[in-house]
This record gives sequence, structure tokens and C-alpha cells, in this order.
Amino acid sequence: MALDYESLLDRALDKLPDDIREQARFQVPDATILVEGNQTVFQNFGQICDVINRDPAQVLAYLLREMGTAGNLDGKRAIFKGKATETVINERLKGYIDTFVLCSECKRPDTRLVKESRTQVLECDACGAHRPLKVRKATKSKEIAAIISEGQTLEVMIQDVGRKGDGIAKKDKYVIYVPNTVKGAVVKIFIEKVSGTIAFAKKVI
Ligand SMILES: [Zn+2]
Repeated sequence: MALDYESLLDRALDKLPDDIREQARFQVPDATILVEGNQTVFQNFGQICDVINRDPAQVLAYLLREMGTAGNLDGKRAIFKGKATETVINERLKGYIDTFVLCSECKRPDTRLVKESRTQVLECDACGAHRPLKVRKATKSKEIAAIISEGQTLEVMIQDVGRKGDGIAKKDKYVIYVPNTVKGAVVKIFIEKVSGTIAFAKKVI
């Protein structure tokens, strides 16, 4: 009897060491993004939630919070207000997976989110690790250190326009002023000065 592709693949995977095998099975596709007018459609959102085995509503809530925008589910798609790029969405998605999907001990994705009293716990079926999620603080302090510093270039969405006409972007605790930008635009910026939680940037052309 001829072997079909699936069983050949299974046999090939069985011969690999465990960690490589897991990586081979856990392939999260990149987000496919389509900008329609003043909104951004995340087309394969449902498919990605299936792969990472997480509740789409929860994943969406995380993305919206991190991107500082509004949005909703639309069948298998997610829709964001404003224009966002694939880079921005893929970065946030990776942030979600690092925090809520991958085991911090063995780095595998075979985990479950469990609620214990008031805390969420990430339980790993592969190694048995049991990690309470203190998500917001942990990610934020890491992101602040990693993301905002003088001389840095990053991509942001202009969420508002200040009284003097400067575009305003938000990143975690930071408010970033970017002259010569309009609300809803996704722009590449260069951080010129950081003062407390306020940053001044210029648009990179
Ligand atoms: Zn583990």
C-alpha cells in the first residue's frame, strides 16, 4: 500500500529529535493584512488562532490593547480601525505567542491557559511547567526597555493630533509626538528625545 503524504511526513518527523519536531509542527503563518479604506483587515486571524489554540476574542483583545486601537471580529477575520502594517501586527502577534503560548521552560507550544482563583496560569503539557501570568507588567517593562530610546527608529500608528497640530502616537506608557503626520497614518519614526514617558520623534521619509 502506498503511503500518503501525511504518514510519510509523520514518519519523517518521528525520526527527528523532539525539539526540532516540535518546531516543525508549530508553524504560525504570518498575518495576512489588507488595508481597506481606513481600516485594516487581518485576513487569516481565525486560522492563526486555531494554530496557536487560543480564543480569538482573547487574542484580539490583546492585539487591540497593544496596538492602541479599536476593532472587532468578523467571522474568521479581525478588523482594526486605522491603517496598520503587517510588520506591526506580526510583532504584536509574536508578543502574544511568547507570553501566552510558548512555555517559558521548554519553549514548546503545548500549553493551556488555566484560571486559578484570580490568576491566569500557563500550564505546559510537554514539561509540566506551571507559570502564573503577570502579563501586563512583565511585557510592559520589557517593551519599554526594548522599544523606546533615543536614536531608535520604529513604526507607529498616529492615534491623535495634539493642540499644536503634532501627531500623537502611543506605545505602552509613552506618548510620542510626531510633527507633520495625520491621524490614522502608520509612519516610521526616529526618536529624537525621550523625557520621562514623553518622546519626541520625527517622521523618517
Ligand atoms: Zn514546557
